[in-house]
Amino acid sequence: MQGKKVIIIGAGIAGIATSIRLAVMGYDVEVFEKNDVAGGKMYLIEKGGFTFDAGPSLFTQPINIEELFAFANEPIHEYFQYSKVDIACKYHFENGKRINAFTRPADFASEMNEKTGEPVHNIIRYLKNAERVYEKVGSIFLNFSLHRFSTWFHPRVLVALKTIKLSYLFNTLDTFNRKRFVTPEAVQIFNRFATYNGSNPYKAPGMLSLIPHLEQNEGTFYPIGGMISIPDALTKLAKHKGVKFNLGKGVDKIILEGSSVKGVLSEGEFNQADIVVSNVDAYYTYKNLIEDKRAAEKVLRHERSSSALIFYWGMNKTFPDLHLHNIFFSEEYDAEFKHLFELKRFYVDPTIYINITSKMESGHAPGGKENWFVMVNAPATEVDDWGSQIEQVRASIVKKLNRMLGVELDDFIETEEVLTPSGIQLRTDSFQGSLYGTSSNSIWSAFLRHANFSSHIRGLYFAGGSVHPGGGIPLCLKGAKIVAELIGKTDVGQG
Ligand SMILES: Cc1cc2nc3c(=O)[nH]c(=O)nc-3n(C[C@H](O)[C@H](O)[C@H](O)COP(=O)(O)OP(=O)(O)OC[C@H]3O[C@@H](n4cnc5c(N)ncnc54)[C@H](O)[C@@H]3O)c2cc1C
Repeated sequence: MQGKKVIIIGAGIAGIATSIRLAVMGYDVEVFEKNDVAGGKMYLIEKGGFTFDAGPSLFTQPINIEELFAFANEPIHEYFQYSKVDIACKYHFENGKRINAFTRPADFASEMNEKTGEPVHNIIRYLKNAERVYEKVGSIFLNFSLHRFSTWFHPRVLVALKTIKLSYLFNTLDTFNRKRFVTPEAVQIFNRFATYNGSNPYKAPGMLSLIPHLEQNEGTFYPIGGMISIPDALTKLAKHKGVKFNLGKGVDKIILEGSSVKGVLSEGEFNQADIVVSNVDAYYTYKNLIEDKRAAEKVLRHERSSSALIFYWGMNKTFPDLHLHNIFFSEEYDAEFKHLFELKRFYVDPTIYINITSKMESGHAPGGKENWFVMVNAPATEVDDWGSQIEQVRASIVKKLNRMLGVELDDFIETEEVLTPSGIQLRTDSFQGSLYGTSSNSIWSAFLRHANFSSHIRGLYFAGGSVHPGGGIPLCLKGAKIVAELIGKTDVGQG
């Protein structure tokens, strides 16, 4: 492998992490990124003295980053620091109930009991079960390729398969939760974890009940400097390990000779490579970079994850009752998801997520002000002109927040920026602006998601949210590890 040339297309989080691993393993690694900055969906918006993390806002499982630095044998604290957050989210219900989701399970359970009457043991039992399923099933299916025979002969596969009960597969997450909780608030809170990977709790299987383990057992964290400090730290590490970054240089084509990769074409120039890793949406890669329409259409057979519409509001006031992460639930959650996934439309009473990093980072807003990242779920669709929809959704958000917070929000919004699903697609080539590639609405999702390698093009690999094990920062980092290991094994003939 010494000196073998790898080109990575895209400097999203998985692209950067893959570049680090391969450089440490002795490959000669070059990254081509069409934007002028690395990070993909993670970037900064600065306006009127306010700073916003434009994409992801919730940071879980820092262990993946710790592991990456350990693999590179570099001291993480010199690049990246983070702190634990005590309250994962503050939930707001239309009935006036306000619930702090403490990241200590016992505290969360007693808060739920005090505010809603949900028995403490229901919460504790659910979270213990989530931990067990995550350890036994998640740890094998999220850390290894599902498309290699070797994974299926792993001794832990048998343990994983024995753990999977029929209720995890044949109950929707909503049904699963209704059988375990007595209060509507608990059902809605635990249903919302389907949105962690852009799925629909009324369709996705009960298996997704393992997701709360990440937030409520392991806890949530805040990267010092904001989410942008994650790609910044990893890019610095990659450069230190010898990775060459070509920013502002997009790839136009992956060049093949027969059925093997030969390199990439960028700005009319051929760049030789023995191995190409695409960090770009698998659909876009096949359709535009390889011009393989059939393979592209195959990717689309799997339902896309949801997208988002985001308003970045500079607020000229502080709101002491709000935390870092806040959710204002819709009253008819099932109707909201029906609109998003079936009717492909916004719902009139959307669930609203507000992230305020100036609660943690005083430099993110001028004194006495706050930076609000206000997000609603959006259908993944191709729409050229979001104009009138943006106005309607904005009006619904303002009306709902005015009602639930008892304020006149428009009096406080000093600056505004908007990101639509087509804006997300434009920036990252994520088809239909889906946040997490494909959804997990089917029990087969894990198997239908594209593999980390091409089965018909030698030397072509995939890393990132649209391929195994899926989207979100933790899974993208796990995917980078899987890809690097696959490449390493193939090179020593163990593939
Ligand atoms: C609004 C929003 C909120 C989110 N919230 C969270 C959250 O709270 N927590 C969480 O964990 N995850 C969240 N996610 C999901 C998370 O951001 C993604 O799963 C993850 O960042 C995807 O990383 P990736 O490696 O797949 O690459 P991407 O970020 O998709 O980057 C792909 C890169 O490829 C580049 N590229 C595309 N085409 C080409 C080309 N032809 N040549 C060269 N380069 C190219 C793009 O410019 C881009 O930089 C959110 C996403 C969004 C958009």
